[in-house]
Amino acid sequence: MNLILLGGPGAGKGTQAKKLIDKFQIPQISTGDILRAAVKEGTEMGRKAKEYMDSGKLVPDEVVIGIIKDRLAQPDCKKGFILDGFPRTVPQAEALDKVLAGLSTKIDHVVSIDVDEEALVTRLTGRRTCKNAACGQMFHIKFTPPKKEGVCDKCGGELYQRDDDNEATVRNRLATYNQATAPLIGYYSAKALVRPIAGVGSIDDIFIKIVGIVSGGCSCACGR
Ligand code: AMP
Repeated sequence: MNLILLGGPGAGKGTQAKKLIDKFQIPQISTGDILRAAVKEGTEMGRKAKEYMDSGKLVPDEVVIGIIKDRLAQPDCKKGFILDGFPRTVPQAEALDKVLAGLSTKIDHVVSIDVDEEALVTRLTGRRTCKNAACGQMFHIKFTPPKKEGVCDKCGGELYQRDDDNEATVRNRLATYNQATAPLIGYYSAKALVRPIAGVGSIDDIFIKIVGIVSGGCSCACGR
């Protein structure tokens, strides 16, 4: 099962991807996570990417396409994968098609998680993530606060706010999404792959809808 999760920043792609890993035992590939790890390690790619990320702009296509090409060639992707945050431009989607053709596979589903823009701003500015990379659990200071402020319920790790989750950068990320990424809906609709879902309601309700779609069934919250 090769799945793309589309949706604006904060739509819940990462949260849903983590639940899908548990259910289907296939990896999540998040270019954002890979880039943040490179920033943390201080690699040359990380240093270059940070400038774009901090201002809410997209890292150049050739950089992320290179990342994805290497990652998809890993053996754990043979059973399937969940792409979260890639592709983000039409040239990235075209490059992905080529990479997958080279691996004799293709995209099976594109789930577009739709959420109102102001709701995304509220979600992102209140988002907190566990610093422990192996955990990465996410919280929201208002909607899903941790039991103890600043501490992860799951592993006890320290919670932090991403550098790009401040309001000014969030607004730039949304503008970038509308201009560069939203056209992907048309790209994948032309291939009859897009399944839009309303990204509102509980995390579990949205998860049931996605599982329904990828299992070839119903995309309402009935679970069939
Ligand atoms: P994310 O964690 O997916 O919200 O990504 C955080 C930031 O990483 C984005 O705002 C971009 O600067 C960069 N980034 C992640 N994925 C991509 C991509 N596919 N293309 C270009 N830039 C990306």
